[in-house]
This record gives sequence, structure tokens and C-alpha cells, in this order.
Amino acid sequence: MSFKNIFALAWLVGFLLIGFGIYYNNSMFAYGLLLVIICGVINWIGGKLGFKLLGFQEQQKQDSEKNNEEQQKQDNEKRHNYICYKCNTVVQGPKTPVYTPCPSKKGAHVWEDLGLIGNDHYQCPKCGVAVKSKKTPVYTTCPKTGSHTWGKM
Ligand SMILES: [Zn+2]
Ligand SMILES: [Zn+2]
Repeated sequence: MSFKNIFALAWLVGFLLIGFGIYYNNSMFAYGLLLVIICGVINWIGGKLGFKLLGFQEQQKQDSEKNNEEQQKQDNEKRHNYICYKCNTVVQGPKTPVYTPCPSKKGAHVWEDLGLIGNDHYQCPKCGVAVKSKKTPVYTTCPKTGSHTWGKM
């Protein structure tokens, strides 16, 4: 049980006591009122404290976002070409793309990793697909026949 739940329960009990106090016209009303007021004060202080804690978390979030940016930069240098052997769509990314529906045949794209993206152009003369790659791309399945035969352009 978290602090928040205990607090909410205490508040509820406070209101119940007020209710009983009004119904039976006894001192429970005063206890209930006291409990509700105490809970209100705790809530007010807790809220202020909470904001401070949130502010602290905000800072941490910014720090982690900064780290994410750096990570993104590193990931960009590690981006690969991925090709679907069914439709020859080439996408670039840090990891294997999602297996979304493929336009060529029934079913989903089947992504194959061609390796790191680079500045050299390579083309498969059989199917005509061209990619920019760091080194000769992987000889993945060519939709025409066999595997792609990459030639440097
Ligand atoms: Zn496809
Ligand atoms: Zn090919």
C-alpha cells in the first residue's frame, strides 16, 4: 500500500467520521473534521513536495533525453540497409523494421540485413535495386533469381 493510498483512506475515514458525527450528533464529527483538515494539510505540503520531486524528475528526464540524442547519433552511425526480398523495398534504420504487409505478394515484408550504410553505391544488375553501403552488401535473396550480385557503381 502506497503513502497515497493510506492518505486517501485516512481522508475517507475522516469524512465517514463526520457523517457518523452528524448522524449520531456526537464527538465523532470533531475527530472526522480534524482528520480531514490534517489530511488536507498533508496533501497541500505533499503537493508542494511532489512538485519539487517532479521538478527533480524533469531534470532527470532532460538528462536522459540528452543521452538519448547521443545514443541516436551513435545509432545513426550504426544504421543498416534492410531489404525485403519480395518487393525489393530498401529501408534504413538502426534495427530490423517492423514486418508490415508487403505490397508484392501476400503476407508481410521479410527484411534482410544488407549491412551498414555508407557512401558507396552498389547495384544488383538482375533486379536493378541500388543501395548506399559501407562495403559490399550482403548477398541476400534477389527477387529475380538466386541472390543479389552487388556491383560497385
Ligand atoms: Zn516486401
Ligand atoms: Zn537483385
